[in-house]
Amino acid sequence: MKTFDDIVDFHGHSCPGLAFGYRVALLALKALGEKAKDEELVAIVENNSCAVDAVQVVTGCTFGKGNLIFNDYGKQVYTFIRRPSGEGVRIAVDWTFPETEEEKRIWDRYIRGERFDEVLKAVHSRKARKIGMILNAKDEDLFKITQRSMDIPDEAQIYASLRCAVCGEKMMEPKARVKNGEIVCIPCFEEVQ
Ligand SMILES: [Zn+2]
Ligand SMILES: [Zn+2]
Repeated sequence: MKTFDDIVDFHGHSCPGLAFGYRVALLALKALGEKAKDEELVAIVENNSCAVDAVQVVTGCTFGKGNLIFNDYGKQVYTFIRRPSGEGVRIAVDWTFPETEEEKRIWDRYIRGERFDEVLKAVHSRKARKIGMILNAKDEDLFKITQRSMDIPDEAQIYASLRCAVCGEKMMEPKARVKNGEIVCIPCFEEVQ
């Protein structure tokens, strides 16, 4: 099992979003079993924040394999579905950081652009405290969890490739466009004439 440090190593820095993603991913595996070697687990994520990196590393639902589906809703919601059973879990982040008055004041100064040592130090320790709380909270204090059977998304498909009549590069068939009666790629299609 990956540790939070493994995830930080992949992501590049430690942050609250990553901590949420890590907790989401651990919960998904607890609910649905082991990580995906191929596409036996599918993740549908509703944002493209730091959290999604943790989801990819821990659950094996990755952008490259096509078992990570991105719905651009700007919501902290993550749904995982096991193939072929259709067993699923929907995890919605529902947590507010219990900020102290002092933290609120310092955060306001930071937002306004203050970069004094004192402010930076306080912002750093606020972040560390937030990450610590997320990593140690109970699942039910962080998330609204719904476990039920769900529709299974299609597996990633392999398509024929076509050559663009303008740039000569190849694209997969469903991405081809027709321009002036010729088959072209999307960048060439969208190029202003
Ligand atoms: Zn991050
Ligand atoms: Zn082209």
